[in-house]
Amino acid sequence: MVYLWDLLVLAVGATVGSFLYVVALRYGTEKSLLAGRSLCPACHRKLSVIDLVPVFSFIFLRGKCRTCKAKISWQYPLVEILTAIIFLFLFRSPLALIVWCLLIVIMIYDWRHKIIPGGLVLVFDLLALTMAVLNNLGGDLFSALLWGPLFAAPFFLLWYFSGGKWIGLGDAKLGLGLGWLLGAASIDAFILAFWLGAAVSLLIVGWQNWRKSQRKLTMKSEVPFAPFLFAATFLVYFFKINILGLINFLFY
Ligand SMILES: [Zn+2]
Repeated sequence: MVYLWDLLVLAVGATVGSFLYVVALRYGTEKSLLAGRSLCPACHRKLSVIDLVPVFSFIFLRGKCRTCKAKISWQYPLVEILTAIIFLFLFRSPLALIVWCLLIVIMIYDWRHKIIPGGLVLVFDLLALTMAVLNNLGGDLFSALLWGPLFAAPFFLLWYFSGGKWIGLGDAKLGLGLGWLLGAASIDAFILAFWLGAAVSLLIVGWQNWRKSQRKLTMKSEVPFAPFLFAATFLVYFFKINILGLINFLFY
């Protein structure tokens, strides 16, 4: 019975995930969230039930539209799987679940537009702050609240001293809420985000050199940082990845 229940939670999570993707696509546009079923963006065919089953449709259709064979973004199944995992961990904590769903929408929006949506981040920050307060009442509330500004400070300084060239102010605003969400694990997420960012940047540079790409690679071909912040936060929050422990283990 336990497995059946887990499967149900995963299915609900994946379905919510595909809804979150639509929310992110339509955020800031005039389109209503509930009006009409989704269309294929290439041939505008109305999608039917078999096109809309989370994860499975993508696999069965091999990532292509049934009629026009246009590629479907790999981001759909990824978001559905991530949301399913989040539901499995958090279905008993509604506030944390809402905070994470909001974070997913922010990340999709950032992937697609390379802009962190200010309004959504404000709500995310306020909810993460509320969660930090509720979780630390009667405990060390002061330290818990300090993690937000501590996490945001390096991004704010990078933004300030580069005049907005290296990093946007949005990363600092997002960091505030991430710090409140993660508490003391902020340090682990911060280090992991930089490692992931550096590793992926190296892979991209290597791959582009290998392809002998015509476009010259300069510092300007910037890799956005928010996806790494999100990935690191996800891994540290749900899988308790202990980077400080790992560093201690490797170097001392
Ligand atoms: Zn199509």
